[in-house]
Amino acid sequence: MQVGAEGNRTFLKSGFRCRLVLAGLMLLPLTASADWYRFTDTAMTTPIELEFWADDKELADRVGTEVLAVFHQVDEQMSRYRDDSEVSGLNRSAASGPVAVSAGLFQVLQKAREVSLLSDGAFDITFGSVGYLYDFRAGKKPTNEQIRSGLSRVNFRDVILDETAGTVEYGQPGIRVDLGGIAKGYAVDLGIEHLVSHGIRHARLSAGGDMRLLGDKRGRPWYVGIRDPRSEGRNAVVLPLQDVAVSTSGDYERFFVDEAGARVHHILSPATGKSVQGVQSVTIIGENALTTDGLSTAVFVLGPEKGLEMIERLPGIDVVVIDDQRMMHVSEGLVPPDPE
Ligand code: ADP
Ligand code: MG
Repeated sequence: MQVGAEGNRTFLKSGFRCRLVLAGLMLLPLTASADWYRFTDTAMTTPIELEFWADDKELADRVGTEVLAVFHQVDEQMSRYRDDSEVSGLNRSAASGPVAVSAGLFQVLQKAREVSLLSDGAFDITFGSVGYLYDFRAGKKPTNEQIRSGLSRVNFRDVILDETAGTVEYGQPGIRVDLGGIAKGYAVDLGIEHLVSHGIRHARLSAGGDMRLLGDKRGRPWYVGIRDPRSEGRNAVVLPLQDVAVSTSGDYERFFVDEAGARVHHILSPATGKSVQGVQSVTIIGENALTTDGLSTAVFVLGPEKGLEMIERLPGIDVVVIDDQRMMHVSEGLVPPDPE
């Protein structure tokens, strides 16, 4: 759905931007609809927002619609809530032997493994073996006994990838892989690739907390707000950015408050099977959204100290952590230089 465009409005109606050359009374038709185009949708249980600069309305409408379709396709492929998704198929049969998967799913599983290794298992897509017992909308969480039993099936090393064969096998039965912490980033990257392939050079594409910026906003940077985790509509900080991916993980996205007054939210520790405490939000800035999405969840689980340690080892990646005391921790790349 296109929600409107700004600039050059008066010229858009006729489809032509005309310049009157008085001397010869000549009308020069110039390309008409160079403008910002905006689209919104809901997919992967999250709002999708797209805006980009294009020279031509017809092209913009077509490409915009195709980019939105990407999110529905990735959802159909990777959602654990859909019985007919590729991931659900994997969860049903990969414990019985190697399963051939699509190149896209294989790429996501490889990145998930990379982030698991980097974070010493803080990021672990098999957290889903316990994660499926939570229902944040219904305010439902598992008992300690249920968690104990599920935790024996949480181990990313049990997702065995064979690169040559393009297959995946699970090391034990009962594993439930859940790509909720990484699939949106993958979809955002696909969407951006699609825009680039059609010659688009200035765009912002976001799916909930995962965003990627293509180029700048034509002569000025994009301004990206990191929201105050405890106050919707207020920013904790605004960053001028261009040509990067930005992912935020927060404890405010999906949560309920339990009978003891504790915040039960959707980012779980693979060690305890419970919601991670000590952090309110983590924002990662990097080159592509697949990586920043995985890393934002990983740093959330690791906490400010270990999380920053991991990020400082990774070139081209920066982080902003807001902890439960509302203290902001930033990586070296975001610290302003000392004034002379
Ligand atoms: P959001 O979905 O709000 O953009 P995240 O990128 O942090 O935020 O993703 C949170 C999702 O990640 C959860 O809903 C769940 O599907 C998944 N997840 C939760 N804990 C872990 C974990 N320890 N490792 C990997 N994925 C996780
Ligand atoms: Mg994530």
